[in-house]
Amino acid sequence: MAEKVLILGAGGVGQVVAHKCAQVPEVFGDILLASRTGEKCRRIAEGVKKMQGREIRTAEVDADDTQALVDLLKREKPAMVLHVALPYQDLTIMDACLETGTHYLDTANYEPRDNAKFEYGWQWAYRERFAKAGLMALLGSGFDPGVTNVFTAYLAKHDFDVIDTLDIVDVNGGSHGQPFATNFNPEINIREVTAPCRHWENGAFVETPAMTLHRPFTCPDAVGTYEIYRMYHEELESLVQHFPSLKKAQFWMSFSENYLKHLEVLQNVGMTRIDPVLYNGMEIVPLQFLKAVLPEPSSLGPLTKGLTCIGVIAQGQRAGADRKVYVYNICSHEEAYREVGSQAISYTTGVPAMIGAKLMLEGKWMKPGVWNLEEFDPDPFMDNLNTHGLPWKKQDPVEVW
Ligand code: NDP
Repeated sequence: MAEKVLILGAGGVGQVVAHKCAQVPEVFGDILLASRTGEKCRRIAEGVKKMQGREIRTAEVDADDTQALVDLLKREKPAMVLHVALPYQDLTIMDACLETGTHYLDTANYEPRDNAKFEYGWQWAYRERFAKAGLMALLGSGFDPGVTNVFTAYLAKHDFDVIDTLDIVDVNGGSHGQPFATNFNPEINIREVTAPCRHWENGAFVETPAMTLHRPFTCPDAVGTYEIYRMYHEELESLVQHFPSLKKAQFWMSFSENYLKHLEVLQNVGMTRIDPVLYNGMEIVPLQFLKAVLPEPSSLGPLTKGLTCIGVIAQGQRAGADRKVYVYNICSHEEAYREVGSQAISYTTGVPAMIGAKLMLEGKWMKPGVWNLEEFDPDPFMDNLNTHGLPWKKQDPVEVW
């Protein structure tokens, strides 16, 4: 049965989610897109009409305001919220969902504004309340986190008895031609990449200074060779809990020298600070000001060329023998733009958000409580990736690592 859904957030990812939900009318019967700036929702709705031939409705709401959300949810009564605004709003939206009996999905775990520390603890604390209310919250249904969690669950189900080592590798081999821009929300992106690195080793997270360990990585299928840097990423927290056999788990992301040089300068001059400074008698947060002058991620669609390659390399044993298997997706920035008017970073996040919501609404992944993606059967998600624009491949034996 086709359901009504509320998409919250009209940025790069919100645009992709709106287009992809519109492509599946048998599941997403009535789509409402709401965000802080109504004009951005209307612009996306025009694009959806033009490219997908479907009308979607729009609204304006401040998702930091639980009461405003409750009013909107009571008025509209959607079956679920697909939250693709910012991680700062996770808890206000979960509160509003609880109050109105609405299912919930997001793509990034909660992070307080004044402390660049993201972790699942705040959201896992809602488990009992969601379960008691008969509601489901699916956390981190983007690519990483999201598909990387599903890839891990798939490898654990089909290729291993025990996985002991996990390396998640996220390469963006694309280029937007701008001197400096981030592919998703600049504030969130810069908070993430400037944080100290943490990786899992022998039962504990080990902290090292940001961006200190790096190595070249040659992607499969002629995507190219890129320098990848070890950093902390949120899926490590849930994966090491749900796969306790893991002895080592690391996350790696590619960065260009140009990006890192700009970032170093911005850090050195204090522009990445998240504490308020006084400017002309007014308090401003340097990183928020920086976001205001950087290109919006949603504006990079027509400019970005090249491929992304994101995947998971698992090592462990099956039937007593050592094994290593790599599962990955390659996505083209230009093809994403042709299909939904966005670059591949937004595309690779928005498609899994749609798939997570689809599996929930179809009842295949519907279970009261608060869950990470690796806690469900990966097979229906893997099938949907193949049919909704993010086909994956398996490399066995592994040549890339
Ligand atoms: P953008 O900055 O492009 O978009 C964010 C949108 O949220 C904007 O439309 C913004 O509105 C809106 N918004 C912000 N605050 C509020 C509020 N208080 N109330 C209502 N709307 C609000 O970000 P992206 O689209 O690039 O990223 C969206 C989310 O996806 C982020 O949480 C990001 O961390 C996550 N992400 C997850 C990935 C994954 O693989 N799991 C990868 C990439 C991103 P306005 O325009 O008015 O500011």
